[in-house]
Amino acid sequence: METIDFLSSHGDLLLDSAFKKITTIRIGGPIKYLVSPFDMNRLKLIITYLKEEGIAFKMVGRGSNMVCGDGMYDGCVIKLEHLDHYEFQDDGKLYVEAGMVVPRLANVLATQGLSGLEFASGIPGTIGGLIFMNAGAYKVEMKDVIDSVLVFRDGEFVWLSNEECEFAYRRSIFHKHLDWVIVACKLKVERGDREKIKALMADRQQRRRNTQPLDKPSVGSCFKNPDSDYAWRYIDGVGLRGYRYNGIEVSEKHPNWLLNVKEATAQDFIVTSNFIKDRVKSAYDVDLVMEVELFNC
Ligand SMILES: Cc1cc2nc3c(=O)[nH]c(=O)nc-3n(C[C@H](O)[C@H](O)[C@H](O)COP(=O)(O)OP(=O)(O)OC[C@H]3O[C@@H](n4cnc5c(N)ncnc54)[C@H](O)[C@@H]3O)c2cc1C
Repeated sequence: METIDFLSSHGDLLLDSAFKKITTIRIGGPIKYLVSPFDMNRLKLIITYLKEEGIAFKMVGRGSNMVCGDGMYDGCVIKLEHLDHYEFQDDGKLYVEAGMVVPRLANVLATQGLSGLEFASGIPGTIGGLIFMNAGAYKVEMKDVIDSVLVFRDGEFVWLSNEECEFAYRRSIFHKHLDWVIVACKLKVERGDREKIKALMADRQQRRRNTQPLDKPSVGSCFKNPDSDYAWRYIDGVGLRGYRYNGIEVSEKHPNWLLNVKEATAQDFIVTSNFIKDRVKSAYDVDLVMEVELFNC
């Protein structure tokens, strides 16, 4: 069976998409195949097929931590848009599929008076992407709320415990196994006061609006915070707040955010981030490490 026929019989298939259409910073070239499997079993069939055919694949959630190259991606991007179910379980845990968008889930939980995801209500990714990154805010990370993760690896579905996910600062075991697919998870949530949960989320949203340039395309923070201080403070210290290179601008509001202000390319992003790294290294002897992933660059 032809690849197009196979993929379109197991998911929604797009042949004219591009990374600039599916990432929050709106950068990146055309994608040969973009498929959203209809369900978990179809996901399994698609991955197995792609591996057998030697076709590269890349999981993408909301593309909120990725800057992708401007050239064609000659492989298959898989999005889990149809895997977004959730279910409260008898043991009190919340089962959630990996394609669920996190701010939406946080709102659902808040409405039901369930606490646990308040920290993540402003992180614009999917459960899969947040687990991959061990995303966090306000000193809480995914590792604090994950009970276990369902993974498709080496042809089978396997549950990994929290410890087995090897969570660390913006890292997890999934960085070492790029062909593993996060399919679902169980979250630890607790009953709380609905009004307090909502108030906390509203407060966090306001803090974000005050300190982050949410009105421009970005991937959030570009660099991880070194142990010594916040990355933004080093970037500010070398005078790069507001610096502009082609379509990329170092945010005036938050210098660790690089914004796509005018049809930026991946190259613009790379040149700017390398320039920042060099300036910070010479001034402070600090090695800034990228938090955002460069893909197909
Ligand atoms: C406005 C804004 C605010 C942000 N604030 C924060 C913040 O406060 N804290 C924070 O930590 N981050 C923040 N981020 C960054 C980003 O939202 C997080 O890194 C998030 O975890 C990425 O989720 P995603 O679904 O968009 O993943 P993507 O960017 O789509 O993917 C990220 C990585 O995860 C992999 N991946 C995605 N889904 C799967 C899956 N199902 N199985 C296997 N691998 C998968 C991808 O292949 C890729 O390598 C922010 C970004 C923006 C744009």
